[in-house]
Amino acid sequence: MEKKNKQGTICVQGGWKPKNGEPRVLPIYQSTTYKYETSEQMARLFDLEEAGYFYTRLQNPTNDCVAAKIAELEGGTSAMLTSSGQAASFFAIFNICSAGDHVVSAATIYGGTFNLFEVTFKKMGIEVTFVDQDASEEEIEKAFRPTTKALFGETIANPAISVLDIEKFARIAHRQGVPLIVDNTFPTPINCRPFEWGADIVTHSTTKYMDGHATAVGGAIVDSGNFDWDKYKDKYPGLTTPDDSYHGVTYTERFGKNAYITKATVQLMRDLGSIQSPQNAFLLNLGLETLHLRVPRHCENALKVAQYLEKHPKVSWVNYCGLPDNKYYELAQKYLPNGSCGVLSFGIKGGRENSIRFMDSLKFVAIVTHVADARSCVLHPASHTHRQLTDQQLIEAGVAPDLIRFSVGIEDIEDIITDVEQALEKA
Ligand SMILES: *Cc1c(COP(=O)(O)O)cnc(C)c1O
Repeated sequence: MEKKNKQGTICVQGGWKPKNGEPRVLPIYQSTTYKYETSEQMARLFDLEEAGYFYTRLQNPTNDCVAAKIAELEGGTSAMLTSSGQAASFFAIFNICSAGDHVVSAATIYGGTFNLFEVTFKKMGIEVTFVDQDASEEEIEKAFRPTTKALFGETIANPAISVLDIEKFARIAHRQGVPLIVDNTFPTPINCRPFEWGADIVTHSTTKYMDGHATAVGGAIVDSGNFDWDKYKDKYPGLTTPDDSYHGVTYTERFGKNAYITKATVQLMRDLGSIQSPQNAFLLNLGLETLHLRVPRHCENALKVAQYLEKHPKVSWVNYCGLPDNKYYELAQKYLPNGSCGVLSFGIKGGRENSIRFMDSLKFVAIVTHVADARSCVLHPASHTHRQLTDQQLIEAGVAPDLIRFSVGIEDIEDIITDVEQALEKA
């Protein structure tokens, strides 16, 4: 067997493997379509009898190389890119659920995913039950129904920075005969590979650390190839019985460990068309080439900022799973021993007004609605994303009025702390 490359080598060399005389750098296949010599060849592609490209809404060589790199980083069998992280979450669930089905999800997840699950899925007839991810296995299993098709959680939740007990969730999912889907956006496969802890499918908003420079919105879905769909044939008919829209292809039969990603590509991408543009995939690939260098620096800087804030007399609280007194420290040590992520939150004494004064006084740490890129930035949910809520409603929503979300970048740590220090003096 060929020796597996380490993460740093996959980041730089994975995916695109140029042959003699081909470009050293991944080319952008800026083409919607592909040419064939015979009508017969093209027909075989449409019947899925042969692998090949025919239209970029389904597949594009640039995208496939980048997806292959992400699959290798996660240790999966196959992967696909999507136009955004939202599209990845949607496809990951919709590939195995239809009207009348049910999903169990951790309650502390990204707000966009929560809306997708709570509002839009409901309109499509798919119901989601939210559970406290820290509850006992017994308690969480009470949420399951005969129609439940998946369990979902985030390795590190955005913005709560809670850490998922992946092994516990995997035990529950497998006892219930459903796959565990994990959104691994914040740690990236550099800090955690959920498949090693029993997750079956991983999703990403590549918009965050993977791109890393805030240049392109994108998403990815990776399959471990481990979930035995045929064992639960009646539960997953989309994968285990013939698809009439492809002359009766049965995905698990024809594609084995790649059945899940193949179905999502040739059926969902064909019908719903949420492809990542090849140009964006190229930018994502550039980001991935330095992921193994950037992620440790984000974590190192965030830990130093958290330690600095913790000791500051004007700071009332700090939430970062890398701090020993944090509720999720133990889980972070287990699943994220090399570092968690660059995002933390904290509050300033004196409430909302002081938080605003602090933010307005920052110099290069900018106020933006983004997290997880090279540049440090802050957001005050009470004045921005949640500004329609009263202080009482904010507390009920789990967003303290003084909460500042800080996405620590990879600038020099001394300069980041100097900027925070001078802004805290004015608060
Ligand atoms: C941002 C984010 C998403 C949504 O991704 P987009 O690329 O913005 O569509 C999903 N999950 C997590 C954890 C995120 O941080």
